[in-house]
Amino acid sequence: MKLILLGAPGAGKGTVAKLLTAIDGSVQISTGDILRAAVKAGSDLGKQAKAFMDAGDLVPDELIMNIMKDRLREDDCKAGYLLDGFPRTIPQAEQLKVLLEEIGEKLDAVVSLEVPRDVILDRLTTRRTCTDCGAIYNVKSNPTKEEGKCDKCGGPVVQRDDETEEAISNRLDVYNEKTAPLAGFYKNEGMLMEVVATSSDAVVDAIKEKVGL
Ligand code: ADP
Ligand code: ZN
Repeated sequence: MKLILLGAPGAGKGTVAKLLTAIDGSVQISTGDILRAAVKAGSDLGKQAKAFMDAGDLVPDELIMNIMKDRLREDDCKAGYLLDGFPRTIPQAEQLKVLLEEIGEKLDAVVSLEVPRDVILDRLTTRRTCTDCGAIYNVKSNPTKEEGKCDKCGGPVVQRDDETEEAISNRLDVYNEKTAPLAGFYKNEGMLMEVVATSSDAVVDAIKEKVGL
């Protein structure tokens, strides 16, 4: 399947994407994961992106589009993809539309995960991420077996630099201003599917039904 997952930070895009990859071999493409890997590797891209990310601001559209133009042409995309955290602005959505036409592809749907703001805030402040494999934990609902150590790969599990209360509040403001308008954009395109996302399993079931799996 080929989907865009829309939703505020902490809405569960990453979790839902990971569940969907297990169903039909589609790959999860998370621009946030790609950028964090670049920061960790100290590449040019990472150096250009880090300050924006730490503040909870968006990385410039041009950097993101350069990443995605290459990424969507890779072989593993043939099995389908789940775009997680991209597009994030109207210009990115417009450029993605052109890019998909260029490579002759059509999305199945744009899924908007709707979660109340208090749930989002609670999830983000309690979220922990493995710096090695990107696995996501939660100190309340899904803790690691051993504190600070990833169950899957043994890597360090920490709070992200952009998950301080200040950065989180900025990320939510940026989301409302720059990303929330994408719902209207995709509604116009006739592609929007809105799902109340309090349980990831319910979201996955709704998506399976929509794409006929
Ligand atoms: P979230 O948990 O907020 O959805 P992500 O892991 O998707 O976080 O992204 C983390 C950060 O990476 C964002 O706050 C932003 O700085 C940057 N980023 C990720 N994807 C994009 C994008 N499509 N456009 C601009 N910036 C992005
Ligand atoms: Zn790990």
